[in-house]
Amino acid sequence: MMRAYFSDDQLRHHGKTFIVAGEKKPIPEVPERAEILGRALSRLGLDIHRPSDAGMAPIKAIHDDHYLDFLQTIYQEWQAEGGSELVIPNIHPFNRKGPYPRHHVAKAGFHLGDTSCPVSETTWQSAYASAQTAISAARHVRDGGAQSAYALCRPPGHHASSNIAGGFCYLNNSAIAAQELRAKHDRVAILDIDLHHGNGTQHIFYDRADVMTLSIHADPMDFYPFFWGHAHECGELAGLGFNHNQPLPLGSGDDVFLDALDRALAKVDDFGADAVVIALGLDASRDDPFGGLAVSPDGFARIGEKIGTLSCPTVLVQEGGYVSETLAENLYQFLSGFDAATKTTTI
Ligand SMILES: [Zn+2]
Repeated sequence: MMRAYFSDDQLRHHGKTFIVAGEKKPIPEVPERAEILGRALSRLGLDIHRPSDAGMAPIKAIHDDHYLDFLQTIYQEWQAEGGSELVIPNIHPFNRKGPYPRHHVAKAGFHLGDTSCPVSETTWQSAYASAQTAISAARHVRDGGAQSAYALCRPPGHHASSNIAGGFCYLNNSAIAAQELRAKHDRVAILDIDLHHGNGTQHIFYDRADVMTLSIHADPMDFYPFFWGHAHECGELAGLGFNHNQPLPLGSGDDVFLDALDRALAKVDDFGADAVVIALGLDASRDDPFGGLAVSPDGFARIGEKIGTLSCPTVLVQEGGYVSETLAENLYQFLSGFDAATKTTTI
């Protein structure tokens, strides 16, 4: 039976509100998500393990020192300067090529890419625990010889780049897991099936030939993160296509998504991946409050089944997927499909 990882510390962060089209709205990335997803794991009879503490080294392999210091200290600095309850940016640099900022407001604008990732007193603790969950799952596969493992990561990670938080994400759990796998496996692919383009992950590995990044998502011309995720973004290494985006029209359902998945899995195969990380967002669901795509619970079972036919070790890292009637069901269906396919493949 596949192992799952999760730590209660991941529940401590709660960002409360963000700005959507100029209006303050509740942040849908709530701690309750983890409890709902946990129900799917119990229904499947999966053992949930607390991650061990692998320290900062695996996180530093992906994120800049300035950024990690910022996440750990900005709340106290902000409070000392009389700032609000949550650290939220109000100015952003045109680019990040100038000197590193000194002022707390400037630092917030430098490192927080949008208003959806406020930093509270407990944000670092949760983001760190979420990263440790991904690291433990990756090491269970890498060193423990397991064929697969599931990391119930929350906060999610795929919008975070090496030095910028965004889209509810602070530390890029999928990227950290992939880099862990690289210590043993020469070629690692990260396949992102979240509703939103995995812009942070793409950015982190854009000039790398040893980690292929692939993302299937709602067309960024109409949807967050807007500025990245187009089909022409193929990676920095000219002509080799180590980054592969498949933007889908809004409202696309199971068949369109599964066709895109077939194309992505063929790319993973051509690349010759020795290990795979699935950035497992469930917000492409037809019931998700974001409403961008329309995958059914049965669609998630078929997606899981196709991914389960990969013959290499696979780490499943939870990304998005918000509270709806079918959130737990979608994870249950995905993991059931995945499990059934891996059993058939192993036999
Ligand atoms: Zn998402």
